[in-house]
Amino acid sequence: MPRPAARGEASEALDGVRGEAGACKDCDLWEHATGTVFGEGPVPTSLMLMGEQPGDHEDREGRPFVGPAGRLLDKALADASIDRSSVYLTNAVKHFKFVPARNGKVRVHKTPTRAEVGACRQWWERELQIVQPAVLGLLGATAAQAVLGPAFRVSKQRAEPFELPSGVIAVATIHPSAVLRAREERAEVYAGLVSDLETIASHVPAARRRS
Ligand code: SF4
Repeated sequence: MPRPAARGEASEALDGVRGEAGACKDCDLWEHATGTVFGEGPVPTSLMLMGEQPGDHEDREGRPFVGPAGRLLDKALADASIDRSSVYLTNAVKHFKFVPARNGKVRVHKTPTRAEVGACRQWWERELQIVQPAVLGLLGATAAQAVLGPAFRVSKQRAEPFELPSGVIAVATIHPSAVLRAREERAEVYAGLVSDLETIASHVPAARRRS
């Protein structure tokens, strides 16, 4: 793996890619969403987490993981002893896909198609090159399949490490929204997420724990 780029150089490169993604119309999702929701966090850094797509709150604010699932992720990261400020957070798809809600308030998430995920791949691949993490944590099936292939099953392969051609270790877990959807078993589902995040962090080599 190449030596991590200097912080200023990486931030500048990321700003350039963020600007390009802001004008992307490579699939139809740009048309109804408020705007591109790009990743954010320190660059370079040792841990990058990637979810599926922005939700209603993220679309309105233009920032990833700022809604209920993001707040739950913050808590899970803290419980897994991971410093949230050291993590680069992004999504596999940069525009919010939704069905208009009947009450006119909260728009309901709709899963992106494989073609939409494929069209957006260019952006997270470029983020990955700039962030240069040691470990890429994949939150949920869409992110996991975008990186590890359509046959990947989070239910069977979560918490298993996979080495990508770049040398980055990819490890999948559930999306934090799965905890919010859980009912009686919510505590157990949450504990599983925290445990997987601990596993993800454990793959960061000691030499990169502070970057
Ligand atoms: S979802 Fe991705 S590929 Fe589609 S328009 Fe938005 S940035 Fe471009």
